[in-house]
Amino acid sequence: MAATPLEVRNIKKRFGDTEVLKGLSLEAQKGDVITLIGASGSGKSTFLRCMNLLEQPDEGEIILHGDSIRFKQTRHGREPADMKQVVQMRAKLSMVFQNFNLWAHMTLLENIIEAPIHVLGKSKKEATEHAYVLLERVGLTARAHAYPAQMSGGQQQRGAIARALAMDPEVMLFDEPTSALDPELVGDVLKVMRDLANEGRTMVVVTHEMSFARDVSSQVIYLHQGLVEEAGTPGEVLGNPQSPRLKQFLTPNY
Ligand code: ADP
Ligand code: MG
Repeated sequence: MAATPLEVRNIKKRFGDTEVLKGLSLEAQKGDVITLIGASGSGKSTFLRCMNLLEQPDEGEIILHGDSIRFKQTRHGREPADMKQVVQMRAKLSMVFQNFNLWAHMTLLENIIEAPIHVLGKSKKEATEHAYVLLERVGLTARAHAYPAQMSGGQQQRGAIARALAMDPEVMLFDEPTSALDPELVGDVLKVMRDLANEGRTMVVVTHEMSFARDVSSQVIYLHQGLVEEAGTPGEVLGNPQSPRLKQFLTPNY
């Protein structure tokens, strides 16, 4: 059997005196879509950022395809022992952020080909050809030469997804990819994400879009104050919540 694409075990993280992640684990098998839900401040973003080492977890393991990230203790705390390993892991684990964060000084096409050329060592020609395939998929062929500031938020986010896909990642991480968008732009981005889920991409998605979570997740994890309060299939967690806190979280506010 192929190794698990992403496994994280017992991640703990503190900022100053506050422990914001108190031992979180998850395992994404190939094709899994794991959605993380929870109130603001429950640790969703920090958990996602620990998975690709944008934050350094104080404790815990991160294992990509059976390959465990190596850490060393320094006087600043725990740090990755081998930055080369981190660069390699980030290439397999691409992240889409809430605020799009395409590079402002580059066109969309330049954004997409940058990492394939500089990290994967592709030729400009090959990277550009692949970029146009991805632009077509996210419906942005006509915007290849636009700068991010000339694009709508929804276009920027679909562009950011194309940029993530250009690395042909084994796992895609999404941190509330639609929550900074005007409501009328959310649907196009969710459509792209549903397509990715349906084609068997392995994804970990922080989202408030409950219909997306219900329709595409293999597993839903509800976080409360840095701990898993409830986890299971969408039918279990969203359809038949057990904890009073989760029931309240899922009740729309009128
Ligand atoms: P969520 O994404 O679920 O809203 P976060 O992971 O952003 O939650 O935050 C979890 C907690 O950690 C919050 O209390 C937040 O204020 C705190 N936090 C997040 N990042 C930092 C940081 N860089 N420094 C200090 N505290 C932080
Ligand atoms: Mg967040």
